[in-house]
Amino acid sequence: MQKLANRLERLGTETAFSVAQAAAAWKAKGNRVYPFHLGDINIPMAPHIVEAMNRAIADGYTGYCPGPGIPQLREALAEDIGARRGMEFSPDNVVVMTGGKPVITKFLQAVMDPGQEVIYPNPGFPIYESQIEYLGGTAVPYRYVPTESGFAIDLDQVRASITPNTTAIIYNDLQNPISAESTAAEREAIAQLAIEHDLWVLSDEAYFETRYEGVSSSIAALPGMAERTVILYTFSKKFAMTGSRLGCAVAPLEIAQIMSKLNTNDESCTTHYVQWAGIEALRGPQEPVQQMLDVLKERRDVACEIVNSIPGVHVAVPQSTFYLFPDVTEAMERKGFTTVGEFATAALENTGVSFCTREHFGRRLPGEERQYIRLAYSGIETADIREGLGRLR
Ligand code: PLP
Repeated sequence: MQKLANRLERLGTETAFSVAQAAAAWKAKGNRVYPFHLGDINIPMAPHIVEAMNRAIADGYTGYCPGPGIPQLREALAEDIGARRGMEFSPDNVVVMTGGKPVITKFLQAVMDPGQEVIYPNPGFPIYESQIEYLGGTAVPYRYVPTESGFAIDLDQVRASITPNTTAIIYNDLQNPISAESTAAEREAIAQLAIEHDLWVLSDEAYFETRYEGVSSSIAALPGMAERTVILYTFSKKFAMTGSRLGCAVAPLEIAQIMSKLNTNDESCTTHYVQWAGIEALRGPQEPVQQMLDVLKERRDVACEIVNSIPGVHVAVPQSTFYLFPDVTEAMERKGFTTVGEFATAALENTGVSFCTREHFGRRLPGEERQYIRLAYSGIETADIREGLGRLR
């Protein structure tokens, strides 16, 4: 039997998709399922974006195009991303990719050698841990601590984790799965550490515009940060374009050139006609973005109210993303569950409510005792949120 590559032992995955499979199997048996598991959006892409995509196909934009993206889209992205962050970018800083996810891999390929360490949020988007380790690095987690209004980064832990072998910090303000948001002081503290230790920063800004109150700020805009920060930008969440696979890196020129070369190696280019739809999304009517946020906010309010009425469950009301990350430790104890996985299976089989748990977002850290679940309310109607979470209660 031929042998497979050793590095596969280090490859993780986004296990949320296995929860989706379990939910689909439960549904196929004739059961009602309330899907709170995937961060997908059940609101259709806006008609003007659909039209632009169709028009681009009809106009023949179906062949190869430049590896880093078509110039018109790079220009629109540089302008939009810069304006919303109070920064200035040239189209040369922008490398278009098939969504935000490839930015993580390409960032690591560009800045990390095997054996180096990268500090990343845990719980966090699971692909950070998977890709750091797959590419031969060491994934060094930092945790969040609960506060009155949500969660805060354990800055002492970040500080203590930095060694001469550390090459980068991954930072995800407006965080998946826990919906944590940095204060200005927290953002500045992370920036300060990066500068002091001369580290690269990947700023995952997938939810920068999925915000109900206040204004988002980028760590890249802080003094001394533009030259060491790569921004992950995606059309997925802001424009309900998850399946269209369109995003980009905004990076210092040297890194942008490397990422562009990596893109050419991996994918040649991002789907040509989808890029024209991206221009329309950025430059066309913006009302659908606000309409979607209004719908999501209503869902958030309904979900938070019911979740907080469940005995032994508590969640702070997040101002961004579309996830709730309630602490279910007491509720589990009351019902005699010892693992959050058993709790999730019982919830699916007894109530039809399907969700991910803390275990889907990076390995559990030593000393971690509380149990959490993640409820995504982006893919489920308000009436079903009410019904499903009512049953869970
Ligand atoms: N980063 C975070 C924090 C996410 O939650 C996601 C998707 O859920 C991504 C990146 C990747 O998004 P996409 O590849 O769909 O653009």
